[in-house]
Amino acid sequence: MSDILTLALSKGRIFEETLPLLKAAGIEPIDDPETSRKLILDTNQPDVRLIIVRASDVPTYVEYGGADLGIAGKDVLLEHPNAELYEPVDLKIACCKLMTAGKIDEGQIKGRLKVATKFVESTRRFYASQGQQVDIIKLYGSMELAPLVGLADRIVDVVDTGNTLRANGLVPMEHIADISSRLVVNKASMKMKHARIQIFIDRVRKAIEEQ
Ligand code: AMP
Repeated sequence: MSDILTLALSKGRIFEETLPLLKAAGIEPIDDPETSRKLILDTNQPDVRLIIVRASDVPTYVEYGGADLGIAGKDVLLEHPNAELYEPVDLKIACCKLMTAGKIDEGQIKGRLKVATKFVESTRRFYASQGQQVDIIKLYGSMELAPLVGLADRIVDVVDTGNTLRANGLVPMEHIADISSRLVVNKASMKMKHARIQIFIDRVRKAIEEQ
């Protein structure tokens, strides 16, 4: 196993909120990840590098050892229920809720409920826990559109302020899960690089407490 510590991150909201935590842990990327096209970013620490992957791919990179560590939203982790990962720290950033939503004036829904979502696994488990049989329609984005054009009765999506739902005539309905970003660790790395990973975890925990 190489001596380099590789941390998988995705661009956007999680990255912006992660940078201060990384800084507190003594790690700063040399290039600006938002403008650089590089997928592997060096940091001020020669033995720590960042890799930039799609948010939904973070658990896969970490589980199979493409990265030692990763930062992923709980919404993404819930879609990988069998992933062999440690999840030692709740970073308490990028907080939101996974919810069902529907049209304000949806009226009575006839027949089996049609639910559009990219969170297929969480949606399946939620309705199963309610004892309700539903048809799940997998989408990759713009879920809010589905009830408006009759593709689905409801959606399952992450909700922060609720503005996106409201702007599209939808309302949040049932709460499925509280979401925040988590630090995840590859199981073999946790054993082989234990001292370094533990120092990183301790520094990140301290930074969260101080925030
Ligand atoms: P809002 O309008 O504030 O409720 O934000 C809703 C939209 O922003 C959702 O459709 C998501 O695409 C995105 N979003 C909000 N919070 C998060 C988060 N913590 N992680 C990922 N996406 C989010």
